[in-house]
Amino acid sequence: MTAGARGGFAALDNCVHCGFCLQACPTFLATGDEADGPRGRIELMRALERGELAADDPALALHLDRCLGCRGCEPVCPSGVGYGEGLEAARAILAERRGVPLVARLALYALTTPGLSGVVYALARGLRATGLPGMLAGWGRLRFAMGMLAATNGGGGRCRAVQGGEGADGAVAIPLHRPAPPSTALLFRGCVMEGLFAHVHHATTRTLSVNGFVVRDAPDEVCCGALHSHAGLHGAAQALARANLATLGDGADPIVVNSAGCGAQLKGYGRLLNGDPAAVRFAARVRDVSELLAERGPVPGAPLALPEGGGVAYDAPCHLLHAQRVAEPPLTVLRAVPGLDVRETADSAQCCGSAGLYTLVEAELSRTVLAQKLAYLTAAPPAVLTTGNPGCLMQLGAGLLASGSGVEVRHPVELLDASYRAAGFYG
Ligand code: SF4
Ligand code: SF4
Repeated sequence: MTAGARGGFAALDNCVHCGFCLQACPTFLATGDEADGPRGRIELMRALERGELAADDPALALHLDRCLGCRGCEPVCPSGVGYGEGLEAARAILAERRGVPLVARLALYALTTPGLSGVVYALARGLRATGLPGMLAGWGRLRFAMGMLAATNGGGGRCRAVQGGEGADGAVAIPLHRPAPPSTALLFRGCVMEGLFAHVHHATTRTLSVNGFVVRDAPDEVCCGALHSHAGLHGAAQALARANLATLGDGADPIVVNSAGCGAQLKGYGRLLNGDPAAVRFAARVRDVSELLAERGPVPGAPLALPEGGGVAYDAPCHLLHAQRVAEPPLTVLRAVPGLDVRETADSAQCCGSAGLYTLVEAELSRTVLAQKLAYLTAAPPAVLTTGNPGCLMQLGAGLLASGSGVEVRHPVELLDASYRAAGFYG
């Protein structure tokens, strides 16, 4: 088999079985099983590629399905193994030969299909507005899902340490403070972010405006395809990538993303489309909102009135830290809020167990992975926990609600936005 035909499997070739990655792997730490760690999974994937194990082999399916795809094993690997590429290749084979689990297919269909997803998100927002999800949040599948929905707005209305820049009707306030000359950025709105985190889009637009950007919508964009890629639906992810390339064109303006999962996928379009030069150029334009803000300074705001002694804890999304290797910019954004006591969570580099649809299809192990993070957080709770990915916001928020914690969960740009409002930048 040629290197090209081997696809992402070739990225696994450098593995020397040293095991340095094991302690960075949340599922290995949770189960203690070598086959639930990267080294064991690499052996399983190689056996799948060589045809020594069938795609429906129960052990192979079990241990690959249990992988979060968090890529926490990549930065610690001294041999530069591209674990994520190998996993995508293996999952594409699994999806082709044994199909995608029904729960995952239904969730993908409901959350990413144009038209239908709008109805689903509208119903979810209606339910969220009743305040019931926050009251019903807890452990167990349904109650955890309620907590996830409540967490899309900071924590079910139980706490409001962070007041953003929304007008009375939720409209985007126009910043008065804007350095000239401005540059343009295209905002990639995504599916879940657009459906349940429109307030984060507003905060993104306002904070970028304060820092000299005119933010425009990316016209007719479609889903980035991240959830499809994670589920092994390689062809569907490629089709979505081509549609986004066609509609977003070949311009020079940066494409700004406030979801780490979407950003990692968009930055990977070059590889996904087999090195297509247009896809490589597109990927080079994609920037996390924290990267754009950090490059500009960013403009400092005013102090925030958090509960006395309350600090802010930052938890890095895996698809920002490991997949995009963006570590400092979110902290730079938070440090633009004067006097803010910012620290990273004790296990910031470890996955929270969200991992796209993983929290739905591997609920038990997902909660086990989450439990360690919650243990740290509830032992020394911050006033606000902040992270830049919708899945992480929902998973951590639901876990905190289920634990009876009053910690608010927010995207980093929401804190900067609140700081700019306090400074009077929005009039
Ligand atoms: S993936 Fe990297 S760190 Fe892990 S066993 Fe292989 S070479 Fe070692
Ligand atoms: S991607 Fe995450 S869960 Fe999967 S093997 Fe690597 S560290 Fe472990």
